[in-house]
Amino acid sequence: GRVVDPVEVDDERVVEAALRPRRLEEFAGQPKVRDQLSLVLEAARRRGSPPDHVLLSGPPGLGKTTLAMMVASELDRPIRVTSGPAIQHAGDLAALLSSLVEGEVLFLDEIHRMSRSAEEMLYLAMEDFRVDVVVGKGPGATAIPLELPPFTVVGATTRAGLLPAPLRDRFGFTGHLDFYEVADLMTILRRSARLLGVEADDTGIAEIASRSRGTPRIANRLLRRVRDWAQVHGSGLVDEEAAHAALALFDVDAAGLDRLDRAVLEALCRRFGGGPVGLSTLAVAVGEESDTVETVAEPFLVREGFVIRTPRGRAAAPKAWRHLGLSVPRSAMT
Ligand code: ADP
Repeated sequence: GRVVDPVEVDDERVVEAALRPRRLEEFAGQPKVRDQLSLVLEAARRRGSPPDHVLLSGPPGLGKTTLAMMVASELDRPIRVTSGPAIQHAGDLAALLSSLVEGEVLFLDEIHRMSRSAEEMLYLAMEDFRVDVVVGKGPGATAIPLELPPFTVVGATTRAGLLPAPLRDRFGFTGHLDFYEVADLMTILRRSARLLGVEADDTGIAEIASRSRGTPRIANRLLRRVRDWAQVHGSGLVDEEAAHAALALFDVDAAGLDRLDRAVLEALCRRFGGGPVGLSTLAVAVGEESDTVETVAEPFLVREGFVIRTPRGRAAAPKAWRHLGLSVPRSAMT
């Protein structure tokens, strides 16, 4: 059974895995990427050969891992899961590649964080299905070419722009995931509530969906916190009242912004007079890594019109000042 006992497990990774849809038709939203991928997979299935390599890009929590797993399950092939940071040496990758079976899906999360030498080995392997295994050390070392069975790489990245062109060019299909519409998040939340055995009405689902930063992972996480609140303080039903109370408790504001989002806006407006300010300065001000500010907080703030990216750095839009209850300075009006 795929039903999760909410009392038994509340480990983020366990719950995420349990809530992950397995078939493309269960994947809500992102109609473009879903249709494109569906075509690529159907064609491969009819040809009886592995599909082109697939690159998925977009902010965290939008379904890249989920789609990667669907590539394997739709084709009924095994999948190997690893990530860029886990492959520090080309040798690690050579070992991995040489153990792949025909048609296997190799999921490389955070592919932009692989080492340079591994990157080079990967794009040769993707193109020629061949890897040079180096035997021995120093002057006596020899490279033994090893043929690989055809396989499919599914790469995921929050930063497609950081991939070197030769690697990016090896992907026959690139899907860009965008933030979800509220209606799609509601569909996802209803399904999650059912799987978790949580009773939820539409007012509760709508409230959570509209405050989830357009992100399924966040929606599913907030659902569990609202469920907690409903179980402890309410009747157990996830409704609007439970959602309001729980989201306030967990510092999710009316626009769905979390603490990091608000820290970025506070720093921009109060500390830097609205900017523009460079990313690294901004990151230091909020006590986070530049990469976190840029890939986690910023995409949503930009898309919702709170923050503007300019050639000289990040600037606060009028909406940011208003959101913090500040009056909009003349300089931010343009
Ligand atoms: P990413 O790899 O982009 O960080 P994941 O694929 O791990 O994101 O998705 C995070 C969570 O959100 C998972 O539990 C997944 O089941 C859920 N999720 C993401 N996209 C969808 C979707 N379109 N439909 C249903 N659930 C989704």
